[in-house]
Amino acid sequence: MNIQRVMVAGSGVLGSQIAFQTAYRGYSAVVYDIDDEALQKGRNRMEELAARYERDLGASPASLAEAHGRVSFLSDLAQAVEYADLVIEAIPEILSIKKAFYQRLGQMAPEHTIFATNSSTLVPSQMAVATGRPDRFVALHFANEIWKHNTAEVMPHADTSPAVFDAVVAFAKCIGMVTLPIHKEQPGYILNSLLVPLLDAAQKLWFNGVADVETIDKTWMVATGAPQGPFAILDVVGLNTVYNIAMAKAEASGNPLYGQIAERLKHDFIDQGKMGLQSGEGFYRYPHPAFRDPNFTKE
Ligand code: NAD
Repeated sequence: MNIQRVMVAGSGVLGSQIAFQTAYRGYSAVVYDIDDEALQKGRNRMEELAARYERDLGASPASLAEAHGRVSFLSDLAQAVEYADLVIEAIPEILSIKKAFYQRLGQMAPEHTIFATNSSTLVPSQMAVATGRPDRFVALHFANEIWKHNTAEVMPHADTSPAVFDAVVAFAKCIGMVTLPIHKEQPGYILNSLLVPLLDAAQKLWFNGVADVETIDKTWMVATGAPQGPFAILDVVGLNTVYNIAMAKAEASGNPLYGQIAERLKHDFIDQGKMGLQSGEGFYRYPHPAFRDPNFTKE
């Protein structure tokens, strides 16, 4: 299975990054989105990405112009998928939307097309049947800022063809990803299966007054050698998202502690414009957060 032509569905935050990285690594990429307005936003996102590639990777203006030249934009699904060897889907994280999309796509895609979802919280078996060809369906999960956080978690469901799985792993390598093959379905893949419990535990320690933010992070950093602790990570995630997750957990688990954590995040941070790294302040103050001070882990 030779993957050459890629269609990316959804030109939002992740879709635009996936399409641009694919093109930057020499593949032709067709970006599909619901209408021209959405596609224009995707185009703008890709223009902005070029500056990040220059700064973070030292990409030359010529290589970036070539990458832009390999991307095309279409809002007609049949046209977009006409030659696709691989479709990478990055549309909203709503199961009904994804299923409806795969149903249409399955009717239009060439027989050999492989389908890969970038979904963060759903698992492939929830969507695979909608394509009419579940054996050609796999999850290919990227991290935000794919050009520098270059993980590709590849996860099959029970009926994914091994050849499809291998082809997607090989493709992910070719576009510069560190590939992380997963052997069976696992909500949260590897990364979030590790990270979510850590961040959850840190917030509970903080909320219950067991220790302060800096002490909790320091513990993690000194004891494991990690360059940052859970609260520095929460600042990167953004406190609005952290709040939304706590609210969702409160609803799903019925545990009032999550609602109380959410309230405190809102009162102490969000209401004061402290949204984390992006706003310049969250649990730490940027651009010189305390945990970066060489003495932070010394005493
Ligand atoms: P986003 O909201 O930024 O973009 C979604 C895009 O999909 C928009 O351009 C929208 O116009 C388009 N869209 C909506 N309905 C569509 C349809 N029926 N067909 C085609 N396009 C449609 O979302 P995002 O943050 O890029 O997330 C997309 C997917 O990637 C989700 O499954 C999410 O879980 C996953 N993901 C996101 C991140 C992240 O950090 N944002 C990280 C990893 C994975």
